[in-house]
Amino acid sequence: MSDCIFCKIVRGEIPSKKVFEDDDILAFNDITPQRPVHVLVIPKKHITSLATAAADDAPVLGKILAKANEIAVAQGSPDGFRVIINTGRVGNQEVPHLHAHIVGGPDPVGPMLKRI
Ligand code: AMP
Ligand code: ZN
Repeated sequence: MSDCIFCKIVRGEIPSKKVFEDDDILAFNDITPQRPVHVLVIPKKHITSLATAAADDAPVLGKILAKANEIAVAQGSPDGFRVIINTGRVGNQEVPHLHAHIVGGPDPVGPMLKRI
């Protein structure tokens, strides 16, 4: 995807603060961190969202989750973290390249949703 912002990060056309990389996935700090630890983990291959992921994307999706703890611990969230994957319009997904937010830090991140 030539004009996808996260594909541009994968290609090095936009700078990012990388915290982990292998052949299939890339992790980098969110540009607007919501917590002391806020990392985005993406497949290097363009997948728009969980709503468009295919069955053969399962290995890379599994890898994103399997690496989450290692990334969180390395970035300063040794005692747990939260993974968020916003999906589509209802999920308020802003960047249409699938990404898992890993949010954490020394203190608890709070309840999952605001009480209404
Ligand atoms: P979402 O609403 O789940 O699509 O979240 C998109 C996230 O991407 C937001 O938390 C943004 O702060 C983050 N973001 C957007 N552009 C960049 C960038 N160039 N580098 C790092 N994070 C970014
Ligand atoms: Zn992309």
